[in-house]
Amino acid sequence: MRFDLIMSDNVEKYIKRKVYKSTSSRIAQKFVDAGLEKIRACINCGTCTGGCPSGRRTAYRTRSAIRRALTGDESVLKDIDIWLCSTCYYCYERCPRNIPVTDMIIKLRNIAVEEGHILDSHFVLANKIFYETGHGVPATGDNNKQWRDLRESIGLPPLPPTVHMHPEAVKECQELMKSVGFRDLMDNVERKKLQQKEEAEKNKEG
Ligand code: SF4
Ligand code: SF4
Repeated sequence: MRFDLIMSDNVEKYIKRKVYKSTSSRIAQKFVDAGLEKIRACINCGTCTGGCPSGRRTAYRTRSAIRRALTGDESVLKDIDIWLCSTCYYCYERCPRNIPVTDMIIKLRNIAVEEGHILDSHFVLANKIFYETGHGVPATGDNNKQWRDLRESIGLPPLPPTVHMHPEAVKECQELMKSVGFRDLMDNVERKKLQQKEEAEKNKEG
């Protein structure tokens, strides 16, 4: 294609790259408030994406998540990809700007949860299993007997006592969760998830 044609009135048509007005956003400000202001030093080099073991097997792109957060693209909060990071810290070690990339992904997830964007499976795990038993995986529960039996069948020692074997310890954990705001956070998420569901249904009808 001739250069003078490209530079004609239709030039916008050929420019595919989105141009952002600034690199400050509500999300970026939350990073700054959390002491993660180094995010602004990102040079968008992609080293974090290049070495990410999760990105090698999924559509998750670390650099892109960071960029979207910085530029205020709030759809990143709803993106399932941010939950695919395995927090291995490889990107953090390799970043030429020494940006705590993994901490940022964790913070991004925190912001997402505060705004009610969490996978149903994660919500059930946090709101129900963890809150009610004090464990993410309550291996000593009735439903997990098969795994305890398997463990013992290959000669491993029995599991040590766990919190949810002692109701008074579970209560103590729940008090702790309330005092650090975890209970309120979960209740808030539940309300927001309900709102989102209602809005989605209204949109479907409309
Ligand atoms: S490696 Fe660091 S500087 Fe490069 S894109 Fe990732 S966060 Fe930004
Ligand atoms: S910490 Fe997360 S984003 Fe960073 S390399 Fe590991 S999986 Fe990828």
